Amino acid sequence: MISVSSEQIMQYVDAHCHLHDHRIIGDVPGIVQRAAAAGVTHMVTCATMEENFGATAALVRQYPAIVPCYGIHPWFLDSLSPGWQQVLGDRVAAEICGIGETGLDFMDKQANRERQLKVFFFHLALAQDLERPINIHIRKAWDPFVRLLKKTGPLKTPGLVHSFSGSADMVKLLIRYNLYISFSGSVTRPGAKKVVKALNAVPGDRILLETDTPDIYPSVPDPDPHGLNEPKNLPAIAQIAAARAGVPVPDFVCRAYANARKIFALLIPAAMHGLQH
Ligand SMILES: [Zn+2]
Repeated sequence: MISVSSEQIMQYVDAHCHLHDHRIIGDVPGIVQRAAAAGVTHMVTCATMEENFGATAALVRQYPAIVPCYGIHPWFLDSLSPGWQQVLGDRVAAEICGIGETGLDFMDKQANRERQLKVFFFHLALAQDLERPINIHIRKAWDPFVRLLKKTGPLKTPGLVHSFSGSADMVKLLIRYNLYISFSGSVTRPGAKKVVKALNAVPGDRILLETDTPDIYPSVPDPDPHGLNEPKNLPAIAQIAAARAGVPVPDFVCRAYANARKIFALLIPAAMHGLQH
């Protein structure tokens, strides 16, 4: 009889990454291979503007482990074409996909906040209409985000807030709107007190894990010299996050995996890959 340690059967879904990014797109075959070897069964790759919808779709056609979200990132509103709503709406309606990366980023005081609110609200309404998971970016814009959520009401299909940077109180509020909370390498930073406090406020059935590849390289003992993040680093992030949540690693990983399979059930059908949790 072969005994399998919990280490060997741990599986992961990277709930938010950007495999279309020009810094890494040439290395995607290696990235996919290394992710599989690390137990990462799926990677949710988020387009960020119309210009990279095509590259994202091409990756999805080539690799069954890559599943897509399409959206306009708040940093890239200058890239919008006059017919962007149609472009995005048609794309999402025609494909098995989620919506995002989209959201609000008020870090830069010069940013056009009104425009961000309008563009993000379009994404939220689209997610409600088409009942798709939505991959959300929020920085320094929690109150305006909550005001938009009050307009849309609880999401019909659950969504996620990626690389969560909000407060523990915000966690409780977002959960009521059918949102999951996703943690990136930012939870591994030695000084990540606020993020860790939020992590500890998230119920086990709402936690997700992500890399935000190629950014947010985690604080791990042996970082790669090139400094570009990739989904194979998810187990290292999970290990540190589990320790900071005070949960045994296999339990933590198992929960995050089950949650990701649930929220992305449309994109990752259970029958195709065999649900193991
Ligand atoms: Zn991102």
